[in-house]
Amino acid sequence: MLLEISRDVYQLTLPLPFRLREVHAYLIKGREGYGLIDCGINTQECFEALEKSILEAGIQLTDVRSVFMTHYHSDHCGLAGRIKEVSGASLIMQSGEAEAVEAFLEISPEQVHNPCFYIERGLPAEKFEEMQQIFPYLKSLISPLKIDERIEDGVEIWLGDLRFEAIWTPGHTPGHVCLYQPERKWLFCGDHVLIKITPHVGLNSRSTLANPLAHYLDSLKKVIKLDVKLAFPSHGPLIRQFKERAQELMVHHNQRKEAILHILGKERKSAYEISTALFGIRSTHFENWMAFAETLAHLALLASEDKLEEIRENGHVLYRIR
Ligand SMILES: [Zn+2]
Repeated sequence: MLLEISRDVYQLTLPLPFRLREVHAYLIKGREGYGLIDCGINTQECFEALEKSILEAGIQLTDVRSVFMTHYHSDHCGLAGRIKEVSGASLIMQSGEAEAVEAFLEISPEQVHNPCFYIERGLPAEKFEEMQQIFPYLKSLISPLKIDERIEDGVEIWLGDLRFEAIWTPGHTPGHVCLYQPERKWLFCGDHVLIKITPHVGLNSRSTLANPLAHYLDSLKKVIKLDVKLAFPSHGPLIRQFKERAQELMVHHNQRKEAILHILGKERKSAYEISTALFGIRSTHFENWMAFAETLAHLALLASEDKLEEIRENGHVLYRIR
C-alpha cells in the first residue's frame, strides 16, 4: 500500500507474517534516483508488495539508489540484499549495527543464543528448545547482505533530494538511528518511538549493551530535545504529538519498574517468574521470548539503580529488593 505524504515522500506499508502485521518503509524522490528508509522482511509476499508500491509511485525498483536502515531487525533490513541485487542500491547503516547484522548472518542458528544465559535466569530448558526451533526461520527473514556505507551519529545523509541528520538512538537495538530532516522538522524514527505499542527493549545473551533500557531512556531524552513537527514511525500511525508520546514512554517504563518491585515484594524470584507474573504466558514462543527479554532489561536497569540485587546461587540467578 502506498501513501503520498508530500510530492517527494511516500509511505509504503508492507505485510509481516507476525503480530505486528505491517511495517512502513519510506520512499524519497530524487533527480538522480530514489532513496528508501527501511525495506521490509525477506518473504516473497513482502518483496512483491514492495515492488507493487514502488510501481504505484511511478518508478521501478531499479530507480532505488540507496537504502538506509534504521536498525538490523528483519522487518527493517530483510529485503535490502535483494533490492541491491536488482538495483545496485547502496546499503547504509550505523557501523556497529552493520557489524552485528553481518555477524548474525554468518553464524549458524544454533549459535545465535547461549542457552545457559536463559536457563540460569529461570527459563525452562524446553522453552529454550522451542524457541531454538524457530531461529532458522527468523534468520531466513534477512536476505544475505553487505553494508556499503557505515555511518556514525550526527553525520549528514542524502536520500533522494532530501538531506537528513543521523541521530543515534541506542536502546531498541545498539545501533538504532533516527533520521531528522531539519527544514521540515520531520523525524523518521524507526522503532524508537511508536504509537499504540511500546517499542521492545530487551536484554538477551547476544546483547552488546549490558543495560539497554538505560540507553533507550537516554535516547528518548535525546529526541525529545529535537523540534519535531511530524514523526514517521516504522509501525502504526504518523506521530503528531511526538514529544508527548516520548514522555509517555518514559512514564510507562517507570510504571513497569514499580510493577516489578511490587511483584518481588519481600521474596527472591527468578527473571522468568517475574516475567510470567508481569506478562502471563503469551500465545507464541516468540512473544514469550520477547516478554522475558523485556523483563531482563528492566531488571538490569533496576540493578544499576541499586534498587535490587542479583544473587547467584547454585547455578541460578535470583533477584531481591535491596
Ligand atoms: Zn525493530
